[in-house]
Amino acid sequence: MSNAAETPNLMEALVSLAKRRGFIYPSSEIYGGLNGFFDYGPLGVELKRNIRDCWWRDMVHRREDVVGIETSIIMHPKVWEASGHVAGFTDPLVDCKVSKQRYRADQLFFAAVVIDGKTVGYVSALESENTAGELQAAAEQLKRKKAIQGALEPVKVREFTEATADEIPLIPSPATGEPGSLTPPRAFNMMFETNVGALKDASSVSYLRPETAQGMFVDFKNVVDTTRVKLPFGIAQIGKSFRNEITPRNFIFRSREFEQMEMEYFIHPDADWLACHEEWLKWCQDWLISIGLPASHLSLHEHPKEKLAFYSRRTVDIMFKYPFGVQELWGIAARSDYDLQQHQKFSGVPQVFFDEAAKAKVVPHVIEPAVGVDRIFLAVLASAYAVEDVKDEKGNVEQRTVLRLSPRIAPTKVAVLPLLKNKEQLTNRAKALYTKLKKRYAVQYDDGGAIGKRYRRQDEAGTPWCVTIDFDTIEKEGDTFTLRERDSMAQRRITESELFALLEEQVY
Ligand code: ATP
Repeated sequence: MSNAAETPNLMEALVSLAKRRGFIYPSSEIYGGLNGFFDYGPLGVELKRNIRDCWWRDMVHRREDVVGIETSIIMHPKVWEASGHVAGFTDPLVDCKVSKQRYRADQLFFAAVVIDGKTVGYVSALESENTAGELQAAAEQLKRKKAIQGALEPVKVREFTEATADEIPLIPSPATGEPGSLTPPRAFNMMFETNVGALKDASSVSYLRPETAQGMFVDFKNVVDTTRVKLPFGIAQIGKSFRNEITPRNFIFRSREFEQMEMEYFIHPDADWLACHEEWLKWCQDWLISIGLPASHLSLHEHPKEKLAFYSRRTVDIMFKYPFGVQELWGIAARSDYDLQQHQKFSGVPQVFFDEAAKAKVVPHVIEPAVGVDRIFLAVLASAYAVEDVKDEKGNVEQRTVLRLSPRIAPTKVAVLPLLKNKEQLTNRAKALYTKLKKRYAVQYDDGGAIGKRYRRQDEAGTPWCVTIDFDTIEKEGDTFTLRERDSMAQRRITESELFALLEEQVY
């Protein structure tokens, strides 16, 4: 069996499966697609919705201290001045004047090529799992090309953001391999601008939100005034965010339109924020495991103190081992009272909570777990995908592709399969079961083709169970069906009430 980690070109396999089975299509494909935008097909939309629904149920319904909201995507432009996004939501952009390619300076690396202590040129490479190896190989190639004798020193990898003004003209563009065409990095604001109303001038400029979090801060007072929340409490939201990413890549990992699930947990300024931060860190990891991500693929990255935003006391990212490397999945930040203080300052409206014990108004501090639905989707697909050798009914070895999705998030929970299409007794019983099941669950009815083929189709779509209505169902006592499990492929007899009990237990 080969699983996610062992499949060569796993990303290619995932992109192809996603397209073939209707999980994800490129956006506007008939017009050639639009870089950084995607559509979710019939299976994809179910999987994505299930991820969102599980999070909402666990985060909002099943907790007593979190409420949900949904705020508008376009907000008053002052929101983004107060939050610091207008001035500072930027990435360092580098242009290649010859190829017209654009790079993020913090994803572009270079090294001096030093032979016998003397710099003889520069090499560059884009961020990858083996940037240092690529730079070293490029340095050796340059040495050969220039036919310089002597000892080549091991390369020292540096980010393009650290290049000096003298070095920039000497660093080759990754697109052309030649130096002289890269510009110095400049701050590029990632917010999408638009105009609200009929006038298109500076006064009508607004932004598509680059994060959902500000909605929770701006509505903090509304929630406090209209509900019975008490500190500590959280406000959660799921919704679309937009970032004009310089280099959207890795399929849906970094796109320009994506969906976030964020929660602002407001705590008393004197509360033990570190303990609270730790609790949320654990909660988020446990939740990812509860929807089927393997714990072995998760790790933590603590942001070093010197790289923290000035208002952040601590930020830890939950990292996931994606096919293209270990990358951020979920950021958990302790943001102090920065956001509420900023909105208080810019709006002139107090952003306070009345502390009954101290009989005083306080501006709460906040712990923020922020995650992207699409990044969870990709992590789920990558870790669920497997190709295995199995035997068919005649004992011949064949390959099956299977998505081992957790029943919590699988797009289809059960496939109902009458053994034969043209036996009314079988199809009537199958349709009766199907009709009953679909009142509560996403199920499919499939009577097309050999039963083995139908199992394979469901395996590839990640359906955890197939139920076959066969001659034993109608001829023997007990009204039982064959339940076939996706992962083990084991089969057993089951009654209708046992099937409902199984679903009740596993789909939560
Ligand atoms: P990165 O460093 O990868 O750009 P970030 O630190 O800017 O991410 P946050 O602003 O903390 O990300 O956003 C919270 C979460 O939103 C991220 O952990 C990620 O899951 C998701 N996210 C951010 N940017 C994108 C994007 N362009 N495409 C898809 N998901 C994203």
